[in-house]
Amino acid sequence: ATERVNVRAGLNRILAEDVISPINVPAHDNSAMDGFAVRFADLKAEGEVTLKIAGSSFAGKPFAGKMQAGEAVRIMTGAVMPPEADTIVMQEHAQAKDGKVTIGKGHRLSQNLRRAGEDLATGQVALKRGLPLRPAEIGLIASLGIGEVTVFRKLRVAFFSTGDELVSIGSVPGAGQIFDSNRYTIHGMLTRLNCEVIDMGVIRDDPALIEAAFKQAAANADVVITSGGVSVGEADFVKDMLNKLGEVLFWKIAMKPGRPLAYGKIGGAHFFGLPGNPVSVMVTFYQFVRDAMLPLAGQNPVPPLPTFKVPCTSVLKKAPGRTEFQRGILSCDAHGAWSVRVTGEQGSGILRSMAEANCFIILPTDQGNVTAGTMVDVQVMEGAV
Ligand code: AMP
Ligand code: MG
Repeated sequence: ATERVNVRAGLNRILAEDVISPINVPAHDNSAMDGFAVRFADLKAEGEVTLKIAGSSFAGKPFAGKMQAGEAVRIMTGAVMPPEADTIVMQEHAQAKDGKVTIGKGHRLSQNLRRAGEDLATGQVALKRGLPLRPAEIGLIASLGIGEVTVFRKLRVAFFSTGDELVSIGSVPGAGQIFDSNRYTIHGMLTRLNCEVIDMGVIRDDPALIEAAFKQAAANADVVITSGGVSVGEADFVKDMLNKLGEVLFWKIAMKPGRPLAYGKIGGAHFFGLPGNPVSVMVTFYQFVRDAMLPLAGQNPVPPLPTFKVPCTSVLKKAPGRTEFQRGILSCDAHGAWSVRVTGEQGSGILRSMAEANCFIILPTDQGNVTAGTMVDVQVMEGAV
């Protein structure tokens, strides 16, 4: 579904139709410099020429007269070219005195001119359907005089935490109880992806309650996200419930952290059963949920996140067998050289490792331990979600 919104409200939304330019951009031939509009034929290949200044053309206030041979018009950046002129001489290359201007040699026909329609011609596609609208696109739409855009409706995402051990902020945790943090990181990540969020709270590890929550979520949302209860423990009911109410399309990924991730469908809703460990939740969201949600929200194409190699200054512990997403800090030294180091302990329950990180260090499946100084792949987190 799509909706019409005011251009400013289009920020972070995804275009649902091509934006066609109703005008030429720029609208008129105009000057790219402050200087003088001249006829190229009046300039000399050698020596200087002195032309009479016939008037001025300001941005928004064009020269009203007709520029004769042997004349120049004083012109400002963005001002309309007198139709008789074909070349701009920047003011640093001209000497004006007593209503006249003297210009030397070395100029090119049509220099310092911006042609009507050179950025965009009337009828041309300015922006394509599927594009996320950033400040640049919003400004471009405004520059065409368009006040409203058609965008895809926001994805509706229902989420809940599972776990008997979870208590909410404001309660005092009893023996073995912990605060629910996953619902907060998930809420934050979904908000950054500009989704409509339905926070269903904490659901106890009770199959009947989980079943009811699944049904309610799938009936109200495009995407359902849960955390916890998706592994192979005695209180892990999520994957079996997905099997019962819908279908499990994949479960268990050769990644660390995040191995128990489950994906499937319940009716028309996409279902992501994220692991319970707080770092696993974030890593699987960044690496899987994000990439699925952007096309579901209408974005097309979805370019891969920039990943590049830098030297790693830490020793990294890694066993072959799974792709690892270690949390790293990319930084730049005094000479402008970038390198990455790891954020201390990498346990999947240590949320501080995400809070301190600005990138993932991605270590491929077959990789073993990494010695300091090795080139590693990094993926910047900021802007990804
Ligand atoms: P589970 O897969 O349900 O066994 O959860 C794995 C680990 O993550 C356990 O130590 C849980 O206590 C922890 N955990 C699960 N859900 C949450 C949550 N919402 N907030 C913080 N920790 C959680
Ligand atoms: Mg659990």
